[in-house]
Amino acid sequence: MLDTSISSGNFDIPVLIIGGGPVGLAMAVELGWRGIDCMLVEQGDGVVGHPKTNGVNMRTMEYCRRWGIAEAVREQGYPLGRSRDHIYFTTLTGWEIARQVNPAYDEIQLPRGAVEPFQRCPQTAFDPLLQERARSFEPVTLRYHVRCEGVEQDPSGVTARLRNLQDGEEENLRAAFVVACEGARSPIRDALGIKLDGTPVLGYSTNVLFRSEEFATMHDKGDGRSYLAMGPEGQWASVNSINGKDLWRFQVRGSLDPDSWGKVDVDADLKRFAGRDFDYQILSILEWIRRQLVADRYQDGRIALAGDCIHQLTPAGSFGMNTGVGDITNLSWKIEAALSGWAGDGLIATYTTERRPIGKRNVDFAAARYARGENVIPAPFILDETPDGERERKEVGERITDEALAAPTFGLQIGYRYDDSPIICHEPGPPPPIERETYTPTTRPGARAPDAWLGKNRAVTDLFGRGFVLLALGAAPPKAENLEQAAAARGVPLKTVFVTEPDIADLYQQALVLVRPDGHVAWRGEAPPADAGQVIDLIRGAA
Ligand SMILES: Cc1cc2nc3c(=O)[nH]c(=O)nc-3n(C[C@H](O)[C@H](O)[C@H](O)COP(=O)(O)OP(=O)(O)OC[C@H]3O[C@@H](n4cnc5c(N)ncnc54)[C@H](O)[C@@H]3O)c2cc1C
Repeated sequence: MLDTSISSGNFDIPVLIIGGGPVGLAMAVELGWRGIDCMLVEQGDGVVGHPKTNGVNMRTMEYCRRWGIAEAVREQGYPLGRSRDHIYFTTLTGWEIARQVNPAYDEIQLPRGAVEPFQRCPQTAFDPLLQERARSFEPVTLRYHVRCEGVEQDPSGVTARLRNLQDGEEENLRAAFVVACEGARSPIRDALGIKLDGTPVLGYSTNVLFRSEEFATMHDKGDGRSYLAMGPEGQWASVNSINGKDLWRFQVRGSLDPDSWGKVDVDADLKRFAGRDFDYQILSILEWIRRQLVADRYQDGRIALAGDCIHQLTPAGSFGMNTGVGDITNLSWKIEAALSGWAGDGLIATYTTERRPIGKRNVDFAAARYARGENVIPAPFILDETPDGERERKEVGERITDEALAAPTFGLQIGYRYDDSPIICHEPGPPPPIERETYTPTTRPGARAPDAWLGKNRAVTDLFGRGFVLLALGAAPPKAENLEQAAAARGVPLKTVFVTEPDIADLYQQALVLVRPDGHVAWRGEAPPADAGQVIDLIRGAA
């Protein structure tokens, strides 16, 4: 159990965030939105040179909506009406093999229980939006060119050693909580003895960011978001549109051979991909390792970790940064509860219990999807201009279509539940099955509370976040003053919101649904609980 009483401590800052990648920045925004004083230190200058993350999934978009940046993400992202097709070929100017037709972002049919579609927004736009929003909150301080060189914790706080990389100055900073968002190479994780489980290398890959006006029009394949080249070795490279215009990301998938790393002949490979010469300007090159790793613990005392520190996965499905945003939105309200004095001793530790299974599931899903793509290995004569070559291209195309490598992942994005959590009021009977592609809304405790429009530009999830929300649904919901009283007696922020719309009452399945600050259901019932104090103690980690 963690002693979350901070009265004995003497702090420079309640929360210190280490690392200003997208996950650290999202934590700063979320804490700023909560009004919690925090400082983020980032060793770099905060400028994104090479965009890695691009796909902002439905759940992250819901949080972007909370933070007031969802519209900006859409505006600065991949154009809404543009084709998102995945087009497979031998070369861009050669034979087409398969085409996975995906609806444009403004045509995606969302499942019931969701209002925010997935959106692509390159990190070069996404991180600055987070930076700007973080800076707009008075309690947030962002410090660049500052490296954390170590942390030491004792029962009453954490001392971080910081170095200003511009003038070399050292300082010790005392915080109640440290959130390490340092990325894959995390000295804090290693110093805490937290181990990564899984497969350290799935492949050595190379990304090339390039600008080209000609790329979009020099072929007969039409508009698409992803262009993928198949050779005798299988799918060996792809080009993704970054901005729907002239910015592209070429990816050479690479192999398991570490000696192949860093040896890509970019010009030769771009020519092989296109099947001809074309004009381009290389902007940056990123060599990176695909991994399938998840940490055995997400937190140690007053130090919590989030993002790539604790899970590293192949980008298939866009779950890296998005899983990190899920982490910090789970952690932030628990830290707020501890700082405000209403957390039970067991609350912070539920961060690992709730988030690790989700991290592992996403890491394993991404690896499995990547492997399915790797499994499609053509016969050597796929490039031949012969009847055998033609037959092979057709068969490979059918296998690609069967593998459905870009199938929707609604269930993974918004259907995740904290089924084994000790801070939700469990119901008897087996939980609904875990869904990956589809999403079936449920308010079973542990699930994300489903979303729906309440009016123009106002959704149910907009009600959540500041504290617990007791939704009282339908024309005549039962009174649940005992829950409000039990919460008030323990200092737990809880307000009742009446929602009369019949379709939302139907979506929410029961008359009373208690939703946590992270938008997950803590308890539900047709009538107030007999022992409201017991419910409130359980959901604040004090049972
Ligand atoms: C090719 C590619 C495509 C991807 N596409 C997607 C996608 O579409 N969707 C998605 O969700 N994910 C995607 N990802 C994954 C995503 O990029 C990562 O999950 C995400 O960047 C992790 O964010 P982070 O903040 O945890 O770590 P990082 O982005 O690695 O940031 C960590 C930061 O911490 C700083 N830092 C480290 N140590 C210290 C220290 N001691 N003191 C101060 N600062 C420190 C670093 O300088 C860095 O800025 C992709 C990844 C790759 C490689």
